[in-house]
Amino acid sequence: MENKIELRTWLNDFKLSHPLVIAGPCSAETEDQVLKIAHELKNSDVSIFRAGIWKPRTRPGGFEGVGAIGLKWLQKAKAETGLLMAVEVANANHVQLALEHDIDVFWIGARTTVNPFAVQEIADALKNTDKIVLLKNPVNPDLSLWIGGLERLYQANIQKLGVIHRGFSTYEKTKYRNNPEWQIAIDLQNKFPDLPLICDPSHITGRRDMIQEISQQALDLNYDGLIIETHIDPDNAWSDAAQQVTPTVLKQIFKDLKVRKTSDEADEFNQRMNQLRTQIDDFDRKLLETLGSRMKIADKIGALKKEKNVAVLQNKRWQELLEKMILDGNQKGLSEEFIIHLFKAIHQESISHQEKIINS
Ligand code: PEP
Ligand code: MN
Repeated sequence: MENKIELRTWLNDFKLSHPLVIAGPCSAETEDQVLKIAHELKNSDVSIFRAGIWKPRTRPGGFEGVGAIGLKWLQKAKAETGLLMAVEVANANHVQLALEHDIDVFWIGARTTVNPFAVQEIADALKNTDKIVLLKNPVNPDLSLWIGGLERLYQANIQKLGVIHRGFSTYEKTKYRNNPEWQIAIDLQNKFPDLPLICDPSHITGRRDMIQEISQQALDLNYDGLIIETHIDPDNAWSDAAQQVTPTVLKQIFKDLKVRKTSDEADEFNQRMNQLRTQIDDFDRKLLETLGSRMKIADKIGALKKEKNVAVLQNKRWQELLEKMILDGNQKGLSEEFIIHLFKAIHQESISHQEKIINS
């Protein structure tokens, strides 16, 4: 995908002075619901209306979407409001039906991105159309799988591509419905700087009171757009009730969001930034020096364990160390999440060093 195609063109075509906004209900429920929401969203910052027609449910028995009839409601909403229409497609049949109903934007859900057969089938069905196609991250935190899906779409000559970051499943409950793991999206952005990156704070948080915070975080990371589930009566929505906001709340969210510039030309800004970055570089150098010295001690420990035939992993010591570092880190303003990440990495490196010595 090395810049053969100007991936950003479709986004620039919207000629927006703010990030792209996609909004609408998790699911289309009735014609009346679709039309009411669409009318409330026209003449706002929203460019694209979203509504799920086929809903991939984790367990059977839930509301699985209204099906193809909903496409007619979207056609009507488009005619009445001028908004572009987006639906989720999970197979070639969905694509076919959506194409027949003049849908503008096709998104591929997180449960579909994990399946290369399904993504390939969708790519083939969309081949050579000029539709906008947005690929959500796979449910599991696997960057190659996400990239693989993009490559399949790209190879089908789909030029108007983008990605949606909706967070990743975890077995243990966190404060998020789907853990954002921002670094994965940032890695993707670094690999494909021209690929529009859209954040889905609704599925990341699973709760409406966190939408603002996550949207702001995404904008602070230079995301190109937001997709936010919006419903006239969120509490009574047929799916994802807890995370949907009303059109009124959505407009307030936009008012409160701060869109920041990517840079500032002023000399004074650049000078102060350079001073601060020099300090950061200095600390980074010291960090590496410290880590290098720490690993030399780990080598000595490895040698001692080898001499006495003692196992590399000493779980009790590791647990105690981690607990102490979480407490100490807390006092220095470092989050528990960060300390656990950091020390797991350090510990892993230390184990690899000792393994090498003990088996030499
Ligand atoms: C959705 O957007 O309604 C949806 C099903 O999302 P995801 O694929 O991110 O779970
Ligand atoms: Mn949803």
